[in-house]
Amino acid sequence: MRVMAQLAMVMNLDKCIGCHTCSVTCKQAWTNRGGTEYMWFNNVETRPGQGYPRQYQDQEKWKGGWQLNRRGKLTLKSGSRLKRLLNIFANPDLPTVSDYYEPWSYDYDNLLSSPAMDTTPVARPKSLITGENTKITWGANWDDDLGSGPEQVGKDPLLSRLSEQVKLEFEQTFMFYLPRICEHCLNPSCAASCPSGAIYKRAEDGIVLVDQDKCRGWRQCVTGCPYKKIYFNHKTGKAEKCTFCYPRVEVGIPTVCSETCVGRLRYIGVMLYDADKVLEAASVTDDKDLYPAQLGVFLNPHDPRVVAEAERAGISPEWIQAAQDSPIYKLIVDYQIALPLHPEYRTMPMVWYVPPLSPVVDVLSETGHDGEDARNLFGAIDALRIPVEYLAELFTAGDVGPVRAALQRLAGMRAFMRSVNLGEEPDPAIAASVR
Ligand code: SF4
Ligand code: SF4
Repeated sequence: MRVMAQLAMVMNLDKCIGCHTCSVTCKQAWTNRGGTEYMWFNNVETRPGQGYPRQYQDQEKWKGGWQLNRRGKLTLKSGSRLKRLLNIFANPDLPTVSDYYEPWSYDYDNLLSSPAMDTTPVARPKSLITGENTKITWGANWDDDLGSGPEQVGKDPLLSRLSEQVKLEFEQTFMFYLPRICEHCLNPSCAASCPSGAIYKRAEDGIVLVDQDKCRGWRQCVTGCPYKKIYFNHKTGKAEKCTFCYPRVEVGIPTVCSETCVGRLRYIGVMLYDADKVLEAASVTDDKDLYPAQLGVFLNPHDPRVVAEAERAGISPEWIQAAQDSPIYKLIVDYQIALPLHPEYRTMPMVWYVPPLSPVVDVLSETGHDGEDARNLFGAIDALRIPVEYLAELFTAGDVGPVRAALQRLAGMRAFMRSVNLGEEPDPAIAASVR
């Protein structure tokens, strides 16, 4: 056993209201310089949707991307050896700026100075970089609040895979928000793909950083990160990414996104894990085994043997205590209500999500309306407005079992607390499920 400590985050998606405060405050703190205009270290996507950059989840689109072979080594996905070698230098599989977005405002003069017309004048989009009127075709969260529907099939690869199984008529439409930062992966493919060795994972807390002096601007990290959470600064010629606000966490204050989150949905904590098991877990054959495999990497911080090994590994008593007190450990391991984002990318992501439960469909009265009473939901998880299958594509490589179990527990907890708050006797079956 080789114990290491990792800062991690869990986001409770039921609480996200899509206000983008986290994105704006992060941008103000970290990417308000020239060359970083298009970068959002934190972004909030509407699901279903294309994401940011556009279609980042379509791993086939980035054909030159990297994948782990059975021995846990990163290799380019396709092509002959020579082609793969050439690929390292040519690096053609990068999102373009139009897949991210170009910052724009509106040409309000068009409104104010327009002559009398038959139709109402419109304010045209105007590029904030070139100052020209432009035909903007994409922006971060461009598909905000569109929800599911036949027109989203083909744009959201997850929805496209499920279009046969998931009903997409108007009455069944669904949407929710997914805030995203760098995953500070246990097995970061950005670091593995950097020819200059400029990306490193800090031993003390697992934060993944780019050494700006060593970076030579190869951009292999952009290709290599399946979450597309590392960006190229076109002014400095260097890669940049979320730093988990390390100057803040080093002095004991939370990340900017956590501190300013309106929904208070971000939990930060310390996880202890067995570094010797990471590559083995990342290399399991079946994608559906990756979520349990990653769970198996985490160590119980209350186990005296783990504590002794952690002390031997030089982890400070404060950090061991933080791991023991961590809400993250409880949400991920004890209750198993937090799940990893796309474990099939095999980088062992460390930002996990409590899947959204609401809105609750009133399944007992069979009206199909959204219901308030979570007792109706308990035992009827498959009747949720947000299809379990869609959540499974996001969080468990398509395995609906763990998602259903997490939602069941959340529904039970909601019903239990409602009974307690109303002074009612909780349903014994529900009470048993939350204990
Ligand atoms: Fe690297 Fe991407 Fe993982 Fe962040 S999410 S650590 S940039 S591979
Ligand atoms: Fe969601 Fe919080 Fe970000 Fe608002 S600040 S979009 S509630 S994560």
